[in-house]
Amino acid sequence: MTTDLVRELIERATARIVEHAEELTALDRAIGDGDHGINMKRGFEAVHAEADRLAELDLAAALQQAGMTLVKTVGGASGPLYGSLLMGMGKAAKQGAGPPALLGEGIAMVMRRGKADRGCKTMLDVLIPVKECLSEAQDAPLPELLQRLRETADAALEATRDMVATRGRASFLGERSRGHLDPGAASSRLLVHAVCDVLEKRS
Ligand code: ADP
Ligand code: MG
Repeated sequence: MTTDLVRELIERATARIVEHAEELTALDRAIGDGDHGINMKRGFEAVHAEADRLAELDLAAALQQAGMTLVKTVGGASGPLYGSLLMGMGKAAKQGAGPPALLGEGIAMVMRRGKADRGCKTMLDVLIPVKECLSEAQDAPLPELLQRLRETADAALEATRDMVATRGRASFLGERSRGHLDPGAASSRLLVHAVCDVLEKRS
């Protein structure tokens, strides 16, 4: 059962990232260096290529391995950061944490690694609200929970538009980063949707 879950998560996450790679790159062209979609596509295709091996592992080990693959294959800041997210989640899964604590530990690793917090116009501006929603709504019926998670991710991405970046390449633009969505927040939203898709399909 866990085996299938790992495979389905990899399939769906890779599909979402590949389908939207152009969009992510276009967002990064506006306030960064125009490689976020390329970076994410490369990383997720590398994880996808290891799907058979990862599917043999339990969720904790699969997350840790996938995180290391992202660190190795994604060029740019987002590789080590998404790698930290998955490795933190893997660590928490190994200790038997439930979903909110699992995501919370992943976020804590990203925050330590990137020295960033909410409001810096980064992936954290989607991940943190989604984690809060998960904590609040975890006992809701699954369809309601998934709908709330998707809506939270959508609204949180949109909220990055008005922020001024204080971390990453976009911070070099200062005020001029305002008015654009953050590319990493957009990829995080896609990954949240991918997880929701898998959980919906399995229910
Ligand atoms: P690079 O900026 O090196 O080209 P990417 O384009 O792949 O890397 O990723 C950019 C994204 O990474 C940003 O949109 C932002 O969401 C995220 N990011 C950058 N720096 C940080 C940081 N210190 N903490 C959290 N996320 C960050
Ligand atoms: Mg970039």
